[in-house]
Amino acid sequence: MKKYDLVIKNGTVVFPYHGETRCEIGIKSGSIACISDEIDANLAEEVLDAKGKYVFPAAIDSHYHVGIYRPHSEDAESESRTALVGGVGTIISYFRTGHHYLNKTGPYREILPEVLSLSQGHFYTDYCYHIAPMTADQLDEVQWMVEQAGIASFKFYMFYKGLTLAADSTHGSQYTMTENYDLGHLYELMTRVSVMAEKYRHVGRISLSLHCENPELIRVFIERVKQEGLTGLKAYSEARPPLTEKLSVHEAAILADATGCPINLLHLSSREALQAGIDARRNYPNHDIKLEVTLHHLALDYEELDRKGIGMKGKVNPPIRTKEHSEFLWEGIRKGHVDTVVSDHACCGEEHKKKGIWESLPGFGGSSILYPILLSEGAHKRKIPLHRIAELVSANPAKIFGLYPKKGSIMIGSDADFTIIDMNVEKTVTAEELLSAQDHTPFEGFIAKGWSTQTIVRGKVMFDNGKVTQEKCGQFIKRPIALHYKSEEEGK
Ligand SMILES: [Zn+2]
Repeated sequence: MKKYDLVIKNGTVVFPYHGETRCEIGIKSGSIACISDEIDANLAEEVLDAKGKYVFPAAIDSHYHVGIYRPHSEDAESESRTALVGGVGTIISYFRTGHHYLNKTGPYREILPEVLSLSQGHFYTDYCYHIAPMTADQLDEVQWMVEQAGIASFKFYMFYKGLTLAADSTHGSQYTMTENYDLGHLYELMTRVSVMAEKYRHVGRISLSLHCENPELIRVFIERVKQEGLTGLKAYSEARPPLTEKLSVHEAAILADATGCPINLLHLSSREALQAGIDARRNYPNHDIKLEVTLHHLALDYEELDRKGIGMKGKVNPPIRTKEHSEFLWEGIRKGHVDTVVSDHACCGEEHKKKGIWESLPGFGGSSILYPILLSEGAHKRKIPLHRIAELVSANPAKIFGLYPKKGSIMIGSDADFTIIDMNVEKTVTAEELLSAQDHTPFEGFIAKGWSTQTIVRGKVMFDNGKVTQEKCGQFIKRPIALHYKSEEEGK
């Protein structure tokens, strides 16, 4: 038996918070065992030559919706496969009870084991879940979820309040399968999460993620858009304008401050939304607020998509905005305001996108182009340093969601999760090459420069030059890791 299972030779390694270094990496039993200027190839069972390429930490795509519109196990298989294409080694997926997903409600003590059994053996990447407590009873399961089930992050949807309170209120409660899903519920949830965050502050971060859009304003703006007869993605953006995000961000920040709950503001799509997040941090300097943006809000604009006739294939919440907004998001990355970049991946076939503006389902996939878009639009075009990109998609999500330093880190003992990148490969995005079950992509025709040639999960080369090369071996990771995985010393 040789000293290393795999050695990555001749590459330039991108260390988060540090920079690029020419070095070689030895991997044993799925972990990083050696980082050295040179490792003898004879010590390795297998050698991966990364000459002329960059060795990045595999991405942690921390915003995903496995199973939202398709059977859970099937979706886990195809959508963790597409993640490998984008250099992703770990998926953190959202789950909630109510309409879509498993289409049921009840205690998470019963439903979460079901989700985990539907997941087991079906992921190519490692995976975790963020959970949205929707009912009053589920609020009392937060402690159990953290301490027993390995859930370190929760979610609240600000705009579902409208679905509960809609004039057609039966429809609303049918959607969330809950009552009183409002700011009162949010306050109760933040109180519960805050207690856990305080109790486990020394082992890892426990937090609440928020989808910030205000439903009362959306109701009014939808009416206006209908009266004005607007069409396309422009209409959808104007029906849910940036003001609705700004208002919700401030509401969330006020309640987070009152309860001491660490929060993550998800998919800030516009100048107003990101600025509100930045202002909230400034207003509450001692407060723990993280800011997320998505690939599609960075790289797409509705004017171009409408010109191309993409239609509702580009429908997503919050909506795609204009170039002016995406430039502000890039500026937020450059200035260090943005903590994470994600795909908000939700596999949604074209059949669900043909029912007009209001009835078509929101969301689409993008995990397969997480690194490619950031490298192309960020590193090549806007000169954002490579280590900063590794922080946005790997090290920061690992820290924020309680996975660090098992994931998101290139250190001895960390999981050997990498993606090897050829910065010079230029390709046009097509739905076929992304290996997803989704039969279209709003990124179709987008030219990206900088693609993964290999993606490695715990030392296994899962993806190699366009092909998946290994069986599914993804593991569920309990978080925060320091609470659920005792070190060998402590175990003795
Ligand atoms: Zn989402």
